[in-house]
Amino acid sequence: MQAKTFALADSMRRLGTESAFVVLARARALEAQGRNIIHLEIGEPDFNTPEHIKNAAIRSLHANRTHYTPAAGIMELRAAVADYVQRTRGASVTPEHVVVTPGAKPIIAAILMALLNPDDEVIIPDPAYPAYRSITTYVGAKPVSLPLIESRDFRFEISALEAAITPKTKILVLNSPHNPTGGILTPEDITAIAEIVRKHDILVISDEIYSRHAYDRPFASYYGLAGMPERTVLIDGCSKAWAMTGWRLGFGVMPTYIAEAATSLVLNTVSCTATFVQDAAIAALNGPDEPVQAMRDEFLRRRNLLVSGLCKIPGVGCRTPGGAFYVFPNVSKIEPDDIALANYLLNDAGVAVLGGSTFGPYGKGYLRLSYANSEENLTEALARMERALAAYKR
Ligand code: PLP
Repeated sequence: MQAKTFALADSMRRLGTESAFVVLARARALEAQGRNIIHLEIGEPDFNTPEHIKNAAIRSLHANRTHYTPAAGIMELRAAVADYVQRTRGASVTPEHVVVTPGAKPIIAAILMALLNPDDEVIIPDPAYPAYRSITTYVGAKPVSLPLIESRDFRFEISALEAAITPKTKILVLNSPHNPTGGILTPEDITAIAEIVRKHDILVISDEIYSRHAYDRPFASYYGLAGMPERTVLIDGCSKAWAMTGWRLGFGVMPTYIAEAATSLVLNTVSCTATFVQDAAIAALNGPDEPVQAMRDEFLRRRNLLVSGLCKIPGVGCRTPGGAFYVFPNVSKIEPDDIALANYLLNDAGVAVLGGSTFGPYGKGYLRLSYANSEENLTEALARMERALAAYKR
């Protein structure tokens, strides 16, 4: 007898997805059929993890550091994170403020779950990294879109933030440098935002995971502003800066009462982060900075190549993003349905990109391209896109 199909929880209908992983799977399926695909869909540095970090993990394994750790992470790593935050943001924090998780994504989920009740409102830039919206709706709270404006280099209007606030607003999400647009908040922006946040007593989640990828001006940390650590959760981790996406190591820095709640969620789900990965993260945070800077410099060259190439394609408009490793060209003159255009580019040109609207309604008419790929592949992708877009028929 065939087993019956059990109904899934209603809450599953409120969970979103992440187009980068969906398109990656489709691109891999095409590759399995023998197609050549250039991958500009996934947001992970294509560089190898620096040697000193891999060696630290190997040493840790040889020392049999392969057992459970405390849920919030080993004290040495939490202390290394506190030092790193002090060095990079000028904020004075102690290890008790730090919670380590397998990647930055789980700490984002834990923070939203720890803080939100149904009907609470969360102001989220739109477009945005999908996890903020997905977990907000999953717990029954309400995401409120804060439109990012192309002509402002994908920064929001400060007046729009103030207008989005209601008595139900509990959290504001900031992400600078920003996924998917590469936009970056200015020092003036963060000062103005802090003033509003103080006035309305709102907690901020400041996702600064791309802080090491700021190109044209020094990175301005929201978390580093005076008085902010008491009312802010900083999100960061090793994935992007040290090319460690597959290691799974992220962390949050937050007021201790929130850290205790987030730790309880970690304890009840994943228990802890792999011990030897935590040891490797200490080597990353305390080690030489040259590998991080070398990767950043290479990303900058690629950004310039990709932006200038895209601007030469008829019908495509592309701002020069100040950070992260994404460009967000406007393709609405060619095809307003960005997802259809992304599908066309994958199937007909063998270039995997993402539709902007998969990051929120205000991403409609844009594509997201990651430049975590070699200059040679980027040049080839541009040539393929130019040919395919010239032949495109709506
Ligand atoms: N935050 C942002 C803005 C991201 O773009 C990503 C990954 O793409 C993450 C967090 C999650 O990083 P991790 O791979 O460490 O979970």
